[in-house]
Amino acid sequence: MPAKPKLGQNFLNDTEAVERIANSLGDLAGRTVVEIGPGAGAITGALAARAGHVLAVELDTELAAHLRTQFPADRVTVTEQDVLHYDFAAASAAAGERLRVVGNLPYYITSQILLKLAASHQSLDRAILMVQREVADRITAGPGSRDYGLLSVTVQMFGPAECLFTLPPSAFSPPPDVHSTVFRWRFAPRFAELGVEEDSFLRFVRKAFAQKRKTLANNLRAAGIAPEVASVAMAHAGIDPKARAEALTLEAFAALWHSLETEQSATPGIPRL
Ligand code: SAM
Repeated sequence: MPAKPKLGQNFLNDTEAVERIANSLGDLAGRTVVEIGPGAGAITGALAARAGHVLAVELDTELAAHLRTQFPADRVTVTEQDVLHYDFAAASAAAGERLRVVGNLPYYITSQILLKLAASHQSLDRAILMVQREVADRITAGPGSRDYGLLSVTVQMFGPAECLFTLPPSAFSPPPDVHSTVFRWRFAPRFAELGVEEDSFLRFVRKAFAQKRKTLANNLRAAGIAPEVASVAMAHAGIDPKARAEALTLEAFAALWHSLETEQSATPGIPRL
């Protein structure tokens, strides 16, 4: 079947990588695994050999039909659907457990898939995902590194992420223009532990990173936070007034969010975060 570039179809042809991906999911005996974009089934076979059940979510009609001929329905359920509309909560309830997720992702919707998984975190245990190498570097970066930014903080607030291994374009057919990295993401959200409210905190982090070249104080000012409120809150949180958002740990972002909330609620008429 010819690959459809519009659907991000770069099929994995490296059997060793397939084994490494499947092994990275941990012991799958009796467990239910969701595969995002199974394609022609390169990874699906390794999953079916290990897991209790595989839920394969594929948008391409022809590939979905092909997969149904390759695997018995009692081992692999093929759902022809856009994964962005997939109901992970219902699948988890039916399986009676938090799901493991795996996918050599269609790169054109990587961010949307990550946000979808984050929003479904209560139904998920961990994910092993293949993304463009530069994206994996950003997802897993720590404070102070060149790659640390909004994507790192957003993903890591839903649980730790670590790079596992990188593959060259030749591991795929057709080869993409970029290297690809497999990373692991364990779902263990930090919001309650850090005492922050999820939506408000993520909105605040977006404002903090709005312009990479600006200082944090300037980004907060540009977001409509009064300079005097921002500087008192930064001092309370122990943050250097000249700091950039790229230098802040998740804990420092949470401390600043708290200080801003406190400062803003003490000053009537100031819009809240
Ligand atoms: N897992 C296969 C492999 O490793 O060879 C295929 C991976 S390929 C990079 C991405 C797969 O995602 C393709 O099969 C593509 O049709 C599928 N896909 C693209 N958009 C999708 C979407 N919105 N929902 C579900 N699957 C999608």
